[in-house]
Amino acid sequence: MARDRGHEKLLELRALLAEVHDVGKAMSLLAWDQRTMMPVEGAAVRAEQLATLSKLAHELFTSDEIGRLLDDLTEYVDGLPHESDDASLVRVARRDFDRERRVPADLRTDLTRAAANGYEAWVDARARSDYASFLPFLERNVELRQRYAECFEADEPYDALLEDYEPGMKAAEVREVFDVLKPELIGLARAVGDHEGIDHSFLSGKFPADRQRALSLAVLERLGFEPDSWRLDTTAHPFASSMSTGDIRLTTRFKEHDVSDALFSTMHEFGHGVYERNVDPALDRTLLCRGASMSLHESQSRTWENLVGRSRPFWRFFYPTFQSIFPEFGGINEDAFYRAINRVEPSLIRVESDEVTYSLHIILRFEIEQELLSGELDLRELPEAWNARMEEYLGVQVPDDARGVLQDTHWSAGSLGYFPTYALGNVISLQIWDRLQAAMPDVYDQIERGEFGQLREWLRDQLYRHGRKLQPKELIERITGGGLDPGPYLRYLSAKVGDVYGIEAPLGTR
Ligand code: ZN
Repeated sequence: MARDRGHEKLLELRALLAEVHDVGKAMSLLAWDQRTMMPVEGAAVRAEQLATLSKLAHELFTSDEIGRLLDDLTEYVDGLPHESDDASLVRVARRDFDRERRVPADLRTDLTRAAANGYEAWVDARARSDYASFLPFLERNVELRQRYAECFEADEPYDALLEDYEPGMKAAEVREVFDVLKPELIGLARAVGDHEGIDHSFLSGKFPADRQRALSLAVLERLGFEPDSWRLDTTAHPFASSMSTGDIRLTTRFKEHDVSDALFSTMHEFGHGVYERNVDPALDRTLLCRGASMSLHESQSRTWENLVGRSRPFWRFFYPTFQSIFPEFGGINEDAFYRAINRVEPSLIRVESDEVTYSLHIILRFEIEQELLSGELDLRELPEAWNARMEEYLGVQVPDDARGVLQDTHWSAGSLGYFPTYALGNVISLQIWDRLQAAMPDVYDQIERGEFGQLREWLRDQLYRHGRKLQPKELIERITGGGLDPGPYLRYLSAKVGDVYGIEAPLGTR
């Protein structure tokens, strides 16, 4: 195609895709509002408003016009550099378009409705710890997800679902990583269990929300939160979202009996926010303007929460500020505080778990999801299967389904295939951090001085700015020089546990 004609068509495509993106971001804003500001009685109508916009976005995106433009532009972008904005936009749009067109409209509607109904049923079932009342909704979700998986030509159904969250990743690759992690993490948790517990009683008490908010903002502003482009609001289940690279919304929650819960959850969401904030602004209003995958996103939330926020150097810098906001910590030394926030303790709830046991919660869910999709595990037997594995992997007894199989919202909305990205994010965070430390050997000295600019800049240059232009695997390969590798994560955990508990090399040689 002639260059001028090609360029013209590209502008047409850009304009159409920008409209789809605008509708998507309007949905994000409605969803953000629903979870932070909206009076509860707005829920029913808000669900309809979101459904209307979702239908509109689907129709706009899967239009024949966009299909034709994508066809016409294939040849034109072949002549452009792989990483140019235009070639990337056409390539990624093509992939998204082909995928969305495979899903019949009525199945899409059924999925959306089942998710909304499932969520309502789950809120109620969890409150009463009543798995039986949730069962028919879960059955419906699993059945629809099986049908959804059949829309794609995948080696196994799980691959089709995983693709939505982690493009290019196969269940077999996840199994390979988890097969290494599982025995090591179980062993590490048991090694800690043989040691004396760490005093953490001072983390509980009465800590007013306004002072906790001041603490969160003091940390955030140090890390890179700018008042003109970020917000921090409260919600029940913290999340981060962005309307554009100049409009980043973080949320947190303040439990007044717990001094550190909000702080770490805020730093976690900062990691998601700083990724979105640092995507190249030239990609705003395109489908490239977000993180490359859920695992890469989670690798960054974990980096800022754990590798920065739970490190000794960070607290050497920040503890005096913390003590000035909470003078009751005047008598608690920094080492005692550091060990308390890093203690390892197998527990029932995933989102409250420590760095060592967290991924075991995920591996359990991943195993169960595969068995549900294949039909190997009957949904009526799900609570027993869950409880047996909690005992086997973590040594904890599940007292009721609210603190067991009903604790997470994901399955209620049909999101099967999402969970593994949390543990993969842990693995990737350490692979990237190893490279970062090689490039910036004094990174922890900088953190100890309260300097985060160079760290942010390295991550921006290596990862954030690309948005979705490159596939997750391309990015990981480029940054780390290889594929997924659980080694750095396990070595980090071993060293951390050794430091916190004074145990020598708990993982041995790895
Ligand atoms: Zn996260």
